[in-house]
Amino acid sequence: MDKSSKAERAIPVLYLVVPCYNEEEIIEKSARVLGDKIRRLQQAGRIAGGSKVMFVNDGSKDRTLQLLHAAAARDALFSVISLAGNYGHQSAILAGMMTAKQYADAVVTVDADLQQDIEALDRFLDSYMAGSEVVYGVRNDRHSDGIFKKGSATLYYNLMHLLGSRVITNHADYRLMSKKALDALSQYEETNLFLRGLIPTMGFPSDVVYFDVKAREAGHSKYTISKMLTLAMDGITSMSTRPLRMISVLGMLVCLFSCVMLVINLVDWTRGNNVPGYTTTLTVSLLIGGITLLSLGIIGEYIGKIYMETKHRPRYIVDTFVWKETEDLAEDAVKQEKRETSR
Ligand code: UDP
Ligand code: MG
Repeated sequence: MDKSSKAERAIPVLYLVVPCYNEEEIIEKSARVLGDKIRRLQQAGRIAGGSKVMFVNDGSKDRTLQLLHAAAARDALFSVISLAGNYGHQSAILAGMMTAKQYADAVVTVDADLQQDIEALDRFLDSYMAGSEVVYGVRNDRHSDGIFKKGSATLYYNLMHLLGSRVITNHADYRLMSKKALDALSQYEETNLFLRGLIPTMGFPSDVVYFDVKAREAGHSKYTISKMLTLAMDGITSMSTRPLRMISVLGMLVCLFSCVMLVINLVDWTRGNNVPGYTTTLTVSLLIGGITLLSLGIIGEYIGKIYMETKHRPRYIVDTFVWKETEDLAEDAVKQEKRETSR
């Protein structure tokens, strides 16, 4: 029987992958809360012994890395990957998932700011045990977001669906993936990474778990407007070439419109009507100018993406990696005790 089929699924080694960018205000609390949850799941026999919390430091400029290293030195439950620079949220979680899949049977990506309800992990695991390879966390509502974020998110999801992308509404990267799904993901080599759009296209049995979103307890959102725009643009251009098609259609419509205008003008001319027509001319040329620039911009976006893809640059570079065998800690403790008693 297939290893991953329902009845035979073993209790998994679970890794939480947590991207961190300038999170010094909250990271110690996050480590405590996430570590606690892993321990409780282990005690309940829901996950296996070697499970861990793997932090990915995405080029933080504050004390985040120091604090993470201190946590990892105290407790082998924590592992820390530090990237060489700020590669962005998507690359950070990819780095974490690709590293974690060497050790884990299942990986859950979760933000460092504790906004996403970690208690939903139990339901993620239920679904994994029932055979899902991917489980998407979907937020119940957006009451903790400001009007701007709420409005832009709704607009964005609608636009994405209109453009043919299969993103799951209100799913941000809180997600469980099995080792099998991660192995499949590792075969996608695109630099222009938009995991939320990419993962649903892979197939595999998947499921949705609803969770509540809390307000950020400390620090502020690391998704600046420019980072949000980049993610939105990447989402559109990496999943669909429909905008290019729309430009062609628009171009055809404008051509048709100008032909009609030409005929009307010719008829007017033969009748000897001397229309001043200054306003019409100006409006039409401005309109056409605008459409041309917009179209060039969209085509430029795609060419830019092709350019970046052809370089085959690494999507992230790992600077340091801390990982300790969980048993090490027990041995360390024994050694420490021996040292102390022999004194
Ligand atoms: N993050 C990251 N790299 C970045 C920006 C954000 O690793 O360049 C992390 C951040 O530390 C957090 C997660 O991605 O753990 C989500 O970011 P944030 O909470 O700021 O976004 P929001 O919840 O406001 O959308
Ligand atoms: Mg957040």
